[in-house]
Amino acid sequence: RYPVIAIVGRPNVGKSTLFNRLLGKNVAITHDRSGVTRDRIYGEGTFGGRRVALVDTGGLEMEFAGDDPISDGIMAQAREAVWEAAAILMVVDGREGVMPLDERVAATLRKSGKPVLVAVNKVDGPELDQHLTAEFHALGFPLAPVSAAHGHGVADLKERLESEL
Ligand code: GDP
Ligand code: MG
Repeated sequence: RYPVIAIVGRPNVGKSTLFNRLLGKNVAITHDRSGVTRDRIYGEGTFGGRRVALVDTGGLEMEFAGDDPISDGIMAQAREAVWEAAAILMVVDGREGVMPLDERVAATLRKSGKPVLVAVNKVDGPELDQHLTAEFHALGFPLAPVSAAHGHGVADLKERLESEL
């Protein structure tokens, strides 16, 4: 089996869009509404000459955890994805900045002990890099600015992910 990279992060940051972009096909369902990816969705790709398995999740931490069975199901799936992964790709929204749920995701990932790379997504133009990524250093993981929608930074991201394996 190929090494697994799990994509996690709070809802709506662009995890599924990035999953599709990284694999060059539309496997994951993307949506403006939160929590669309209830199950784990797998795909295979080649990063830096190496075959990898990518798994998209609905998000590791959610607003209604504990009192909503759907949220709890999504979170349980994401925890299993982290557990089986060789490396984690945490996705954040560069336009919204660091949110409390991002901090919870980061805390959970720190406990996992797995290598983590943070994709600062929605950095739709290179001129936005510094402006949008700076505050995410507070999460304590290496950062990679990307635009899942436009493809900016995605080639670099693949190489850096491969080097985490
Ligand atoms: P998920 O819930 O984290 O899987 O997020 P989705 O992939 O479903 O995307 C949520 C929303 O963000 C959708 O409306 C996407 O079109 C939008 N989105 C995703 N990536 C980008 C990006 O790089 N730039 C911009 N501007 N919007 C994006
Ligand atoms: Mg999704």
